[in-house]
Amino acid sequence: MNIQSAFTHITRAIASLYDTREAANIAHLVMEHITGLSKLDRIVYKDRALEAPQQAQLEKAVKALLEQQPVQYVTGTAWFYGMELMVNPQVLIPRPETEELVEWIVQDVRAGGGAAAIQLLDIGTGSGCIPLALKKELPAADVWGIDVSTGALATARANATQQQLEVRFEEVNVLDEKATGALPVFDIIVSNPPYIKHSEHTVMQQQVLAYEPSLALFVPDDDALLFYRVIAELATRKLSAAGRLYFEINEALGKEVVALLETAGFKNVILKQDIFGKDRMVRAES
Ligand code: GLN
Repeated sequence: MNIQSAFTHITRAIASLYDTREAANIAHLVMEHITGLSKLDRIVYKDRALEAPQQAQLEKAVKALLEQQPVQYVTGTAWFYGMELMVNPQVLIPRPETEELVEWIVQDVRAGGGAAAIQLLDIGTGSGCIPLALKKELPAADVWGIDVSTGALATARANATQQQLEVRFEEVNVLDEKATGALPVFDIIVSNPPYIKHSEHTVMQQQVLAYEPSLALFVPDDDALLFYRVIAELATRKLSAAGRLYFEINEALGKEVVALLETAGFKNVILKQDIFGKDRMVRAES
């Protein structure tokens, strides 16, 4: 099989699962992963035959895609803020909405005169996408990431090494008051915590439900704001005087998160929409 026919093989195999455009996007990602060649180079070398190991990789990838595994887990990589990060089922696949949250923080820090010696903490860091992007954009900042999942932290640390970025990753359960009590004070706390109600699983894609870590996605129906409440409370103790707290939120819970933060005593609480026009981020000041 040559490079061109391998591409066609993938798109045909998954045609019943994805629309034409998405199937092509997925096939491109898989082909780039297998050949290491860019899209342009794959056009130039379209007649080049796959080597035996590449052929085996191709069959394995198609099998995984037919099991509805997300393509990012199949290739083991996902793009975030210009970085190609390693991902696996221990971590959530970074979403474009979260890039917007990072962008907001970076702009605010730059507008406030730069990042000299500020301290940043990401809670529930997963792949480490948020603190790694922050460190890349704000190299002078001291950046931390915490998570309860050992597997997630191993992935985040591996990503830091690969990106040559210095972020301090610690295993801390944010629901454990004793553990969070030992954390220092930060100028910025950010979190994209689990925020999907269990009952919402009926409207979710199989690719997400079957493969992404439920620990990172779901909260109990009767306590959807669990992490927001706990993190807001933590932030009242661990944010510096002019500190700021940033959240990614469930689009249906914007008003509730704003109210929670105002009740907790935060000032200038702002709700912000993502590029799809959905309530997606909140910023609050201590
Ligand atoms: N902070 C990580 C991200 O934004 C993980 C989020 C999560 O697992 N809830 O992708």
